Amino acid sequence: MTAILLNNIKEVRENIKNWKKEGLKIGLIPTMGALHAGHASLIKKAKEMCDKVVVSVFVNPIQFGPNEDFDKYPRTLDTDRNLCDEIGADIVFAPSPKEMYGENTRLSNNELTFVCPPYNLVDCLCGKSRLGHFDGVATVVMKLFNITTPDYAFFGQKDAQQLFILKKMVKDLNLDLEIVHCPIVREEDGLALSSRNTYLTQQERTNALTISKALKEVSKYYEKGITNTQVLFDAAISVLDKNIELEYIEFRDFETFEKVSEVKNNTLIAIAAKSGKTRLIDNIII
Ligand code: AMP
Repeated sequence: MTAILLNNIKEVRENIKNWKKEGLKIGLIPTMGALHAGHASLIKKAKEMCDKVVVSVFVNPIQFGPNEDFDKYPRTLDTDRNLCDEIGADIVFAPSPKEMYGENTRLSNNELTFVCPPYNLVDCLCGKSRLGHFDGVATVVMKLFNITTPDYAFFGQKDAQQLFILKKMVKDLNLDLEIVHCPIVREEDGLALSSRNTYLTQQERTNALTISKALKEVSKYYEKGITNTQVLFDAAISVLDKNIELEYIEFRDFETFEKVSEVKNNTLIAIAAKSGKTRLIDNIII
């Protein structure tokens, strides 16, 4: 089956209006493209749960900081389309920044209405080094929700803070849809799949593997009955390659997002670190 490639909002709306008339359930998978097996797992899940599946492919300028990789982010729409065809997505929505944000040039909240999640969720973990990132994410996802009016929207645990924030947005703003939490897909050796893995040299990839190993070490310790986060932090650090530049390891209750000093059920253990110049994130939920 071939997915229809659409670049404009009006055409997406027309298709969706017709599907809704037929009472069909719609699933949305927002992505930035450079699709891999992690994205594929979300699209497959959507196929299982929904009648029609929309994959958006949009490298969203407002979620990148001025010194981040917006320009060099991989753009591979042709292969992305093939993957969507293979899995059986119905629409690939790949708008231009102009289609999404019009003629606004500064793309800041001087010119645009933003959705701003609560401070305590955005000024920690990835939000600390990526100022404004989650405002940009919440804003684009809200726009995609308004354009596609999905019944279900699929997000990966890979971006756990994003997942938490978007669930909160859906609840706080009474959005009539359900967020589906999808597990992290990893390479056989444990590296979490990411579009940014393509930036890694062989050596950087080898070093990056110690990020998922550090998380495994934490869960091994936890299984032995160790719950103190300082001890678990040290265990993780002991596994990380010395060339990995750690940004944070955080332990948060995944119900409240509060820091915990003792790990218990439903605790998020999240890492951000650089291998070479590439910033990577990974996590487990215990
Ligand atoms: P991105 O294209 O990086 O914005 O990601 C789009 C969606 O795919 C987000 O919900 C991500 O959490 C999810 N995703 C990215 N990598 C993975 C992975 N390795 N496993 C599962 N989901 C993923």
